[in-house]
Amino acid sequence: MKKMWRGKVFQDMLWNCASTTTIQEFNHAMEELRKVNNDCYEWVKAIPPQHWSRAHFIGRAHCDGLLNNLCETINNQIKKARDQPIITCLEYIREYLMLRIVSVQKVIDKAVGPLTPTATSVLEKNKSNAAQCVGKFCGNGKYQVSGPWMDQCVVDMAQHTCSCRKWELTGIPCKHALNVGVPEEWVHATYWLKTWKEMYSFKIEPINGRRMWEKFPCPTTLLPPNHHVPIGRPRKKRRKSAVELEDMVKGGRASRRDKSLGHNKRSYKGQSARDTSSSKKGKVGNKAKSVGDEREGWKKGQSAGHGSSSKKRNVGKKAQSVGGGRQSGTQSACDGISSRTRKAGKKGKSIA
Ligand SMILES: [Zn+2]
Repeated sequence: MKKMWRGKVFQDMLWNCASTTTIQEFNHAMEELRKVNNDCYEWVKAIPPQHWSRAHFIGRAHCDGLLNNLCETINNQIKKARDQPIITCLEYIREYLMLRIVSVQKVIDKAVGPLTPTATSVLEKNKSNAAQCVGKFCGNGKYQVSGPWMDQCVVDMAQHTCSCRKWELTGIPCKHALNVGVPEEWVHATYWLKTWKEMYSFKIEPINGRRMWEKFPCPTTLLPPNHHVPIGRPRKKRRKSAVELEDMVKGGRASRRDKSLGHNKRSYKGQSARDTSSSKKGKVGNKAKSVGDEREGWKKGQSAGHGSSSKKRNVGKKAQSVGGGRQSGTQSACDGISSRTRKAGKKGKSIA
């Protein structure tokens, strides 16, 4: 959808359709979308709403989430392990989970309860909003509750439901239910600190290193399958989708070349292209010049190098002739050779 219909208007309208909690509100939001763009409406309508619209969820999960952040988090955590051999990869995940459980346990130990810290903050927020509502008892354990935004709902104390469906979907009583005195104990068991503690009561045991592992008794040697190594360095970065790539170009991000001038690609098309070509030419010219210099320098360096070697040879002969003398004389001659050789070498280097 982002590729075909972009902009905040479409984004907000889609979120409105997805986050409504009743069928009536969902239909109303879809109708608003149809008025803005019929093609977009038809495209969204073709996707079964039970996969993306909160109003069509059955409420079994007791979760308020609509995004796939959970799998994004897992993908991010196992990034280092993904391209490793299977045992190393599993070991990485085991170790990560072992440490993760301990860190969550520390948070659990600090929590006061009786609900989890997140559930407590949501309930507190609902309680403060409940003060703005007005509830009327209608008998049979039912209440009619009116809110400040023309929202009027029916709270059924026997069924533990509210017609806004937020209580049913999330498991935490909504503002309407809290207005008529639903106790904190009616929050679903999922959000109780006791349940959280039970979930993290199991720990992953530490294990010894590979050297201390027992050999598997199976006599068959398992050989790895034939693997063809592709040419080039393996890719580490995530491949960006077409939409992300388009955003990078169209998002008005300043190109590296024009950043110093305060221009970006979108507002500086014609001139930047002309400048780019000229600057490219200039760069290529400079580069060619520098390459030429380098080549010349290299030649000079080579000749200097030859010079030094010839000098070295001459000095060597001299040293040989001196070699017949005293030991100290030989030493000094040798020193002379080494110093001269070093000098020649330096000369060669500086020229190169
Ligand atoms: Zn409600």
